[in-house]
Amino acid sequence: MVKIGVLALQGAVSEHIRSIEACGAQAITVKSKSDLALVDGLILPGGESTAMRKLIDRFEMLEPLQQFAAAGKPMFGTCAGLILLAKKLVGYDFSHISVLDAKVERNSFGRQVDSFETSLAIKDIAEDFPAVFIRAPHIVGVGEDVEVLARFEGKIVMARQGYLLGCSFHPELTADHRITAYFTEMVEDSLALTVNI
Ligand code: GLN
Repeated sequence: MVKIGVLALQGAVSEHIRSIEACGAQAITVKSKSDLALVDGLILPGGESTAMRKLIDRFEMLEPLQQFAAAGKPMFGTCAGLILLAKKLVGYDFSHISVLDAKVERNSFGRQVDSFETSLAIKDIAEDFPAVFIRAPHIVGVGEDVEVLARFEGKIVMARQGYLLGCSFHPELTADHRITAYFTEMVEDSLALTVNI
């Protein structure tokens, strides 16, 4: 059984834990760099990216998170988690973990309609995924190694680069576990590769 961690400093943690368990993987809350060593893949949840970054710094986790990605271990950022993974942020001269070759804009779906749910077609995953957006970011541009998996109204809302996955919305807030199952398969694949080498 693969072990999938959820970065549990702030944000929507328990919903991801439930979704991971529903996919038959072991879920582990990750609160420190030593917890990181226990997991085969990591989900960075939605919440508030600025608050999460402060806690990442306080617990000295920035470098360990970068090393986790550099080691080829899968990471999946949802909403604020996507912001944490991106190499570039619109309007900021800094970024956070900076591993996903994408430029991300925060809060990009308007102030009046902060939150909404829509049905999304996601390449290789679903024709009709119920996607919940909450003050969501979107991806304004990607590098050539990044595959766009979904768009909403022309804006990129889900993408993958090797073992990095990111989406603008909250897949954990519905009972539809297809995206978590897809990430679980990425983690299984990454382990199979390690064993075969
Ligand atoms: N707007 C939040 C941020 O910038 C993200 C919102 C979310 O994760 N639901 O961090």
